[in-house]
Amino acid sequence: MLGGQMPILVLKEGTSREQGKNAQKNNIEAAKAIADAIRTTLGPKGMDKMLVDSIGDIIISNDGATILKEMDVDHPTAKMIVEVAKSQDTAVGDGTTSAVIMAGELLKQAEGLLEQGVHATVIANGYRLAVNEAKKYLEEMALKAKDDKTLKLIAMTALSGKNTGLSSELLSDLVVKAIDAVAEERNGKIVVDTANIKVDKKNGGSVNDTQYISGLLIDKEKVHAKMPSIVKDAKIALVDSALEIKKTEIEAKVQITDPTKIQDFLNQESDTLKLMVEKVHKSGANVIFCQKGIDDIAQHYLAKEGIYAVRRVKKSDMEKLAKATGAKIVTNLDDLSKASLGVAERVEEKRISDDRMTFVTGCANPKAVSILIRGGTDHVVSEIERALNDAIRVVGITKEDGRYLPGGGAVEAELSLKIRNYANSVGGREQLAIEAFSKALEVIPRTLAENAGMDPINTLIQLKAEHEKGQKNNGIDFSINKTGDMNKAGVFDPLRVKKHALESAVEVSSMILRIDDVIASKKSSGGEGPGQMPGGMGGMGGMGGGMPPY
Ligand code: ADP
Ligand code: MG
Repeated sequence: MLGGQMPILVLKEGTSREQGKNAQKNNIEAAKAIADAIRTTLGPKGMDKMLVDSIGDIIISNDGATILKEMDVDHPTAKMIVEVAKSQDTAVGDGTTSAVIMAGELLKQAEGLLEQGVHATVIANGYRLAVNEAKKYLEEMALKAKDDKTLKLIAMTALSGKNTGLSSELLSDLVVKAIDAVAEERNGKIVVDTANIKVDKKNGGSVNDTQYISGLLIDKEKVHAKMPSIVKDAKIALVDSALEIKKTEIEAKVQITDPTKIQDFLNQESDTLKLMVEKVHKSGANVIFCQKGIDDIAQHYLAKEGIYAVRRVKKSDMEKLAKATGAKIVTNLDDLSKASLGVAERVEEKRISDDRMTFVTGCANPKAVSILIRGGTDHVVSEIERALNDAIRVVGITKEDGRYLPGGGAVEAELSLKIRNYANSVGGREQLAIEAFSKALEVIPRTLAENAGMDPINTLIQLKAEHEKGQKNNGIDFSINKTGDMNKAGVFDPLRVKKHALESAVEVSSMILRIDDVIASKKSSGGEGPGQMPGGMGGMGGMGGGMPPY
């Protein structure tokens, strides 16, 4: 009786749907494809990717988060993996490639289990148990220290493979110096706000010319040649409105009938500008940073008063200047007073390659520091900037936590061993998933070895044997292209980075595993009006799309 009944349509026409095993399989494939795409970049011997965007701009990078951000990924599951890299990057600043590779490997291992008939929920549960246990082991294994020597090694590890080459030593020193400068104690705990470190870049020179500035660097020159190039004992005004005569919104016509009045009219404008400068001068300021423009005439009067002036300063720089010098940003010049001024020991214009920049040093708040990156080309300075930001984050984290782990795959090899033993103690079906997690961890040392041109299988076998013998700090030592003690090699990663990478890898892979139905609504083709038929009859939905119903 029911046989002839029409199927009930609950989804809009044009919606695509993938269900059950098929959906699962496709999702896993997409995630694995993303992991595969970036696995060759892992580690100090990892390769770079060249990304060309739709308008032809090029980025050359080794940084997982950057590569994935620039890749125009379309598949919804692949996008979830890209999100992992982003969240790892925002939360801890490093370990993005590792997190993505681990997620891909967890899914690959899960594929085998699914084929054996293990339910996705069981796998997800097993992974959850395993990662919780893994985090406990990481805590136990973590070493304690936050001295500059350790911090420098952590910076070097984060920088390795990022095209910084021989300059890694210098850059690491600068990073540690900057972190030490901004670190502060709050309620007995060390807190590092890396936002206090301003990273600027200017191409030209070599990476070795990269410098540390104990203060702020503003990428602007003084507006008038007659202004002083150095102001000592600077009293700084920050103004976010223009030192110009406002143009009226409506068009106005001034009719001057008497030729002698022309000069009067011009004088009046000049007087207004002079008055503005007077207000700045009266407040006691000898430096002014203006977020908007400064009229030529105003520039002239400022120069006459010996005031160093900079115009069109970025809003973010204005805020940094306020924080660093203690100045208040004012909109109305009448509000300028001694109390609203900030102080710095020195404001100075310096020449950097062909440009002039303003250095504000000896600020009221010594927690404001800058690093100026130099390098041959735009691509070089940009990649150094990304590498430096990674290093700043990991050193900051280690300064706060004082906990770190041996790198080079040592931790993953050791965890793999520990988790395998743990699996036996759990039993049941989850045991299979926990074992799969243990196996997945091996992807890190294996990939590191592979990327360095070592035999991945033999190296892994050797590494596992060493860990079974109790050499728990052994990893891949690139200086000898063999397995070796990472404590001796000085290769360290922060505990927080490792913990977060495992956590997010498990989170995303479990989420992907649990999906058994992908319902994708038809992509809208822009306007809805009947007059706007999309070019061609585009796809299946084309027929029903823009036509009126009758
Ligand atoms: P991620 O985005 O995951 O940080 P990287 O390309 O920075 O990816 O590689 C990080 C991995 O490389 C870590 O496991 C780290 O311990 C390892 N590593 C970095 N430098 C060295 C080194 N000099 N020797 C051995 N392993 C290293
Ligand atoms: Mg890294």
